[in-house]
Amino acid sequence: MIDTKAIYASLGISPEVYSYCEKIAEELKERFGKIDETAEYNQLKVIRAMHECKVSEACLSGTTGYGYNDIGRDMLEEVYAKTFNTEAALVRPLISCGTHALATALFGNLRPGDELLSIAGKPYDTLEEVIGIRPSTGSLAEYGITYRQVDLLPDGNFDLAGIRAAIGPKTKLVTIQRSKGYEVRRTLSVKQIGEAIACVKSVRPDVIVMVDNCYGEFVETIEPSDVGADMIVGSLIKNPGGGLAPVGGYIAGTKACVERASFRMTCPGLGAEVGPSLTMNQSFYQGFFMAPVVTASALKGAIFAANIYERLGFPVLPDGREERHDIIEAITLGSPEALCAFCRGIQKAAPVDSFVTPEPWDMPGYDSKVIMAAGAFVSGSSIELSADGPLKPPYNVYFQGGLTWPSAKLGIMTSLEELCRENLVKLP
Ligand SMILES: *Cc1c(COP(=O)(O)O)cnc(C)c1O
Repeated sequence: MIDTKAIYASLGISPEVYSYCEKIAEELKERFGKIDETAEYNQLKVIRAMHECKVSEACLSGTTGYGYNDIGRDMLEEVYAKTFNTEAALVRPLISCGTHALATALFGNLRPGDELLSIAGKPYDTLEEVIGIRPSTGSLAEYGITYRQVDLLPDGNFDLAGIRAAIGPKTKLVTIQRSKGYEVRRTLSVKQIGEAIACVKSVRPDVIVMVDNCYGEFVETIEPSDVGADMIVGSLIKNPGGGLAPVGGYIAGTKACVERASFRMTCPGLGAEVGPSLTMNQSFYQGFFMAPVVTASALKGAIFAANIYERLGFPVLPDGREERHDIIEAITLGSPEALCAFCRGIQKAAPVDSFVTPEPWDMPGYDSKVIMAAGAFVSGSSIELSADGPLKPPYNVYFQGGLTWPSAKLGIMTSLEELCRENLVKLP
C-alpha cells in the first residue's frame, strides 16, 4: 500500500489536516471526472489542429532577426486559429503579457473618433491606463478614442437593454472581460457571452467584439470565438501556455482584425511577417499541447480550495458547487493574519523558493500593501500555484493555478496547516 499520509507528514501536513482534506478530495471525485472529460475534449481539439496543420519537427526550431519565413511561428498561429475556430491568430513572444496583447488588439482596431464600449463593467486594472480611464501617457484617450461602459446587472448578468442603448454611431469596438479578474462579480460563461454578442450584433452587425479571454481558455469546451467574438485575446503565462511558455500573448480572430492588430504589434507595412520566434517555438507548441490538462489541474485546485474553506465558514467565490468559467478562486479570510498565513502556506508548498516567507509590500498602483505567494518556474506565471491579496478588509485572497492537481492540493493543504498552526481556524 502507498503510504500517502506519511509523505504528507514529511511535508508538514498534520494528521488532522490530512483527514479533513482527504475526505473532501474523496467527495469531489465525481466532479473531477467531469473536468477530466472537458480536458479530454479540449486535448483532442488541440491534437486535431496539430494534425490538420501537419506540425513537423522543423516547426519546433526558431528564427532570429526579422524572423522572415518562420514556419514554426506561422504554423503555431494556424494551430491556435484552428483550435479556437478563428480565421487567423498572432502568437508571439514579442507580446510580453496579457495587457500588451489587449492593448495591441485595441490600438490596432480603433481610430481617432471611435468609441470603445465595455459591456461587462470596469475592465481589468491594467487596462485603465491603456484606455485612459486613469490618465496615462499614450492612452487611447490621448488619441481621441472615447470610452463608455455598461455595468453588469446586480445579479451578474449582462444589461442587454443598457447595452442596446449604449451602442451609438461612434461605437467601433465592444470589449467583454470573461473572467472576473480581481473583481467581486461572477465570471461570465461562454454561453452568456454569446448571448451578449448576439445582442450587440443585432444593433450594429459591423461592431467588432473583442473578448479578454485571460484565465478562461480550455475551462469549457467552447471559447468566445465559437459564439461570435471577432477577437479573443490572452496571455501565454496563463492557461494556453500550459506552464511551459516563458512569455507571450495571443490574439485570435477574423483575418481583418488580426491583421490590423499585427500592424500595431510590429508596424504598418510589416505586420505579422516580422517578429522572430527566437527559441520559443518548442515551448509554445508543447505548452499549448499541455494546456487543456494543466487548466484542468488548476480548476481542480480551485474547486478543492472552495470546498475546504467554504466548509470552515469562509465566504468563497465561486462557491464549492457552482459551475466554473475561469480558474481563479477568491476566499475572504477576514483578517491580515489569516491572509498572510494562507500565502505562507502556498509559498511553502511551491516547487521553487519554498523556503522564503512572503511579506506584504507597497506595490506600485495599489492603495494598500499587497502580499503575494509564488514559487514559480516562470516569473509572474499565474497558471502556476500562486496566491495574492491586498492587505485591507475584507482580506480577500485570490488563488489560482497549480500545474498539476497534486501540487495544487498540497498548496491548499499547506495553507490550511498554516492557519491551524496560528489558531486562526478550527477544524470540525
Ligand atoms: C491577467 C489578466 C490580464 C492582464 O494580463 P497580464 O499578463 O497580467 O498583463 C487582463 N485581463 C484579465 C481578466 C486578466 O486576468
